[in-house]
Amino acid sequence: MTQLQPRTPDDAVAYHRVMLKISGEALMGDQGYGLHPPTVERIAREVKAVHDMGVEICMVIGGGNIFRGLSGSAQGMERTTADYMGMLATVMNALGMQAALEKLGVFTRVISAIPMDQVCEPYIRRRAVRHLEKKRVCIFAAGTGNPYFTTDTAATLRASEMACEAIFMGKNGVDGVYDKDPKTHPDAKRYDHVTYDEVLTRNLKVMDASAIALARDNKLPIIVFSLDEPGGFRTILRGEGTYTRVEG
Ligand code: UDP
Repeated sequence: MTQLQPRTPDDAVAYHRVMLKISGEALMGDQGYGLHPPTVERIAREVKAVHDMGVEICMVIGGGNIFRGLSGSAQGMERTTADYMGMLATVMNALGMQAALEKLGVFTRVISAIPMDQVCEPYIRRRAVRHLEKKRVCIFAAGTGNPYFTTDTAATLRASEMACEAIFMGKNGVDGVYDKDPKTHPDAKRYDHVTYDEVLTRNLKVMDASAIALARDNKLPIIVFSLDEPGGFRTILRGEGTYTRVEG
């Protein structure tokens, strides 16, 4: 396990190594489906701004902009096949993000839970840690490699394996966790802090329940913030701005 050096009190950045989880839908812009290159580039710029601060970055991107296993199985497709299709969709998103980051001069590796050597690296934990130490952004693709899971669980799993200090859930159109949907309830209240157990018992929309339980068991804080503001990820990394922190 990599040991992270303690930060000095005057360090502006509170984190050494973080996981950024975004949904596949974050990449589709207003077009409602697939990848919208200007949106992918905008998020890549957010990642670069944090990378420039010297923070080691892991990423997991969902696949919901292309295919979700549950929707496939709801239409009669066999569930495990549909889930594998969902996992392959995350590889496409990861490659799209890799291309956008490399255009900005950020070195990256796409690391897949399902080996596909011609396209990207297979997941080998020690190798991934080495990439992070060399300041390469590691984009973990193909989820956990198992059907019946989600990329939220994949993000929590890889964040734990990589010894990330927190998972940052970058959201569109919402800047934290609310007691009810802020899009339909103008009186919705945003939490500054909320515990894992409150998220589970109140069924708050942060991550799916298995991912929350895994984060709780590994004492991994989850920070929910908005990806809409330019420079927002950098601001949150400095402990500023608006967000909700989920922890024990
Ligand atoms: N998936 C899976 N196992 C995993 C991760 C993902 O089977 O470990 C499949 C599942 O079908 C899921 C799809 O990949 O619906 C896309 O992932 P997710 O729904 O988490 O994407 P997001 O909602 O974050 O865009």
